[in-house]
Amino acid sequence: MVDYVLPSLPTSVIGSYPRPTWLRRMIKYYRMGRITEDAVQEAYDDAVTTIVREQELAGVDIPADGEQRRDEMVEYFAHQIKGFKFYGPVRVWGNNYFNKPAVVAKLEYPGPMTVEEYLFLRQVSTRPIVKVTITGPYTIADWSFNEYYPSKEDLVKELSNIINQELHALVDHGAQFIQIDEPALTTHPDEVEWAVDLINRTAKGIDAKIGLHVCYSNYDLLFPYIDEFSEISQFALEFANRGFSDLHKLKGFSKELGFGVIDVHNRRVESPEEVARAIRKAMKYIEPEMLYINPDCGLKLQPRSVARRKLENMVRGVLMVREELVKRGIRSIPFRKRV
Ligand SMILES: [Zn+2]
Repeated sequence: MVDYVLPSLPTSVIGSYPRPTWLRRMIKYYRMGRITEDAVQEAYDDAVTTIVREQELAGVDIPADGEQRRDEMVEYFAHQIKGFKFYGPVRVWGNNYFNKPAVVAKLEYPGPMTVEEYLFLRQVSTRPIVKVTITGPYTIADWSFNEYYPSKEDLVKELSNIINQELHALVDHGAQFIQIDEPALTTHPDEVEWAVDLINRTAKGIDAKIGLHVCYSNYDLLFPYIDEFSEISQFALEFANRGFSDLHKLKGFSKELGFGVIDVHNRRVESPEEVARAIRKAMKYIEPEMLYINPDCGLKLQPRSVARRKLENMVRGVLMVREELVKRGIRSIPFRKRV
C-alpha cells in the first residue's frame, strides 16, 4: 500500500459544485424525453471531467466530482435504497420544495450506490487522492418520514448498516478518503448522543480516511463529542460564515480539521490575504499537521464563475501560508487514514 505525502495544508472541497448550464439543459431535455439515456449519461461524464479539471486548475489538491449526478443529497440515496417511497414535494422553507422521501418498508441495501461515481472520478482526476462524499444515516432519517420503524433511532441504526456496506464497497474499489455528510446532526440536541454512536457504527471497520462534514450547526453541541467519534479521523467544519469568531473552541481538538475558509452563502470572493489570515489564526489552536483547508460547505448554490474564483483565492491564500511553514521546516504531511 502506497503511503501518500501531501503538501502541508492540503486543499479540498466539501462536495457539491454548480452544474454547467449545458448539463442542466441536457437533464431537462432528458426528462422531457427529447434525448436518450446514453446522451444524458455522456453529459454527466463530461460535466464531472470538466468540474474535476476546474478544481485541479484552481490548485485544489483533493478534488471531488462536484456531485454532478445528484439532484439532492438525501433524495439521491433514498431513490436507491429499497423501502423508500416518494409522495411528492413538500415545502421546506420559503418557496423551496424538497421531494421528501418516506420509509414505508424494511430498508435494504441495493448494492453499490456511489462506486461508479468514485471510479469515474478516479479515472479523470490527476491527483493521487480524491474525495468521495456520502450522506450520513442521521441526515437521511431526519429528512425523511418514518412510517415503518418503531423509532427514529431504529431507522438510523438500519441506515448505518446500509451505509457501512456502501463504505466497504467503496474501499474494495480503492477509495481512500470518504466524507460522511451530516448537516442535520445537531438539529435535535437530545439525539446527538446516540447519533454519535450510530455514526461510529456506520464507519466501523473501514480502511480509509473517514471525514465527517457538519454544517449550519451549533458546534457547542458537537464539540463535547469529538473524542467519542472513534471511527472519524477528520471533521470538515464551517468557520468563514461565522466570521472565524469561534476558533478558540478548537483548543485541544484531537482530530484533523477540514477548516472552512470560504463562505458559500456569499457571492463576495474572499481575498487570498483573508484566507491566509484565517489559517494563521486557526494555527494558534491547532497544529498545522492537523489542518486541511476547504470551503465551509458545497459550492453548488454559487454561480459557477464565483465558485471557481473562490477556490482559486482559497489556494492562493494557502500558498502564502505554506511559504511561511517552509521557513519552519514544514513542507508536507503524510496522508493518514486514521487519526
Ligand atoms: Zn455543508
